[in-house]
Amino acid sequence: MSISLHGLGVGGGIAIGHAHLVSHADIEILHYPVPAEGLAAELQRFDDAIRNTRKELEMLWGSIPDNAPAELGAFLSLHIMLLNDHTLSKEPRHIIETQRCNAEWAVKLQLDVLLAQFDEIEEEYLRERRTDVIQVTERIFKALAGHEHGAHAPVCDGDDCILVAHDLSPADMVLFKDTSYKAFITDVGGLTSHTAILARSLDLPSVLALRNAREIIREQELIIVDGIKGCVIVDPDPAILAEYQFRQNEWLLKQAKLQDIRTQAAVTLDGTAIELSANIELPDDCDLALENSASGVGLFRSEFLFLKENDLPTEEEQFEAYREVAQAMQGKPVVIRTIDLGKDKIPSWQIEREAPNPALGLTGIRLCMAEPQMFRTQLRALLRASAFGKIKLLIPMLSALSEVKQTRLHLEDIKAQLREEGIAFDEHIELGGMIEVPAAAMAVGAFLNHLDFISIGTNDLIQYSLAVDRNDDAVSHLYDPLNPGVLHFLKHIISTADKLGKPVSMCGEMAGDPSLTRLLLGLGLRRFSMLPIQLLKVKQQLLTGDIGRIKPLVSKMLKADDEDQLRALLQQLNQ
Ligand code: PEP
Ligand code: MG
Repeated sequence: MSISLHGLGVGGGIAIGHAHLVSHADIEILHYPVPAEGLAAELQRFDDAIRNTRKELEMLWGSIPDNAPAELGAFLSLHIMLLNDHTLSKEPRHIIETQRCNAEWAVKLQLDVLLAQFDEIEEEYLRERRTDVIQVTERIFKALAGHEHGAHAPVCDGDDCILVAHDLSPADMVLFKDTSYKAFITDVGGLTSHTAILARSLDLPSVLALRNAREIIREQELIIVDGIKGCVIVDPDPAILAEYQFRQNEWLLKQAKLQDIRTQAAVTLDGTAIELSANIELPDDCDLALENSASGVGLFRSEFLFLKENDLPTEEEQFEAYREVAQAMQGKPVVIRTIDLGKDKIPSWQIEREAPNPALGLTGIRLCMAEPQMFRTQLRALLRASAFGKIKLLIPMLSALSEVKQTRLHLEDIKAQLREEGIAFDEHIELGGMIEVPAAAMAVGAFLNHLDFISIGTNDLIQYSLAVDRNDDAVSHLYDPLNPGVLHFLKHIISTADKLGKPVSMCGEMAGDPSLTRLLLGLGLRRFSMLPIQLLKVKQQLLTGDIGRIKPLVSKMLKADDEDQLRALLQQLNQ
């Protein structure tokens, strides 16, 4: 009898194959006292386990295949860094000595302390790093138990192997490098877990957070993984299997076709040229942007440089990162957003300041205004990097014109300093602003008079205009890009920019949703920026779109106030 399980679909596509259960040896943590004369030997046992784990992680790091996603090496380095940190490599020693307990128990106590600290963190990305700490300690436990990890590489028979695991760490991923698996599913993992990030970059069908897949699925059982819908069908009956084989073929055909349009110009059927740029978070993402023919970087979320370490990145570190992106993009425009921290991204140095409502507090440009030294260091690094490519600046979370004026004053001041020091920079560097606060959307004309371009941040514009927290599952059904109020905001912003002859782009998730491409074209949008993996899907939509046909339908959509009617019109538009 078929059973269907539901989780988080993170890697697109559909896979049909046989399950291979990856062992999750739940290690029982024993607690026993160690007599005074045995302490030295217990400490040695702990040190050996740390050394062996480190050796093993370094060995895996050294065997990452050249064609593996860049994230894999970065995540493994993070695991090595966590292992080397005194909280894992030294604190348990202290516990062994003071509590006279065995090494396993000391590591467990230390893990509990660390996890409690992670639970306090509100920022989702950082909170998810608790999984990395668990994965590293699991390896220490195994080393203490004398396990050889290398022996655990899975044996997949045939070419239709689907990995079923409780969790997959980056180190596991390297172990599986010689195994040609088609998909993977796990019991745990959030949307921003490293497992999810790797799944997306590998572009493999995958479903996470299935809770008890490992208990339900048996070795070699036939399963279907639907990474698009986030479901897994175990032991499908013939009718379901046939249906999924059809859908899988359809998906594969679509994917193959997408590659055909990679080098094709992004032009609609009626000959309107459209700009398709990439959203990136780290300099390494440029490769994927170029592979998918991005016309530039439309949004570099620079704050990711500020989330990695405990301290602020120095001017030099920032300069290197910005220059790397500018050079990697080979003269194509690169829009770098100034620090957008404070809301859902709270760095460790800012954690003590608890805001009553962070989304309405010191966030984006407001935080930069409150921390001028931090902001000026970034502006200086950006200006210096502007000598190496076509860098443009973008201010996040604008709500008052004074924020633009202040930014310009800082910029001019730093430019004067650089001239005096004889340091090269782009004298005509453009300054743009993100329109993501409803008041800025209404008064967009005033902002445009002081800016060179604008970019619509629909993720926040929707959140603030509908009063729906974008991170709260309880209200996610109300987070609707098709809400008539949102559509009117978009129309107003785009038309005003057009009237004033200033470029307007969109870099929120709406821009990368192919089901909304034609709607946005009809609203007058001509510049889109999105995750690199979405570029070809959106391009495909516009290549077959005719603005002459799209416009009247979108006008009808703007007049519709009934949501069902809006959805019916959208369907018609996408046919
Ligand atoms: C947005 O708000 O649409 C946006 C692109 O910014 P972020 O998602 O980083 O808040
Ligand atoms: Mg935003």
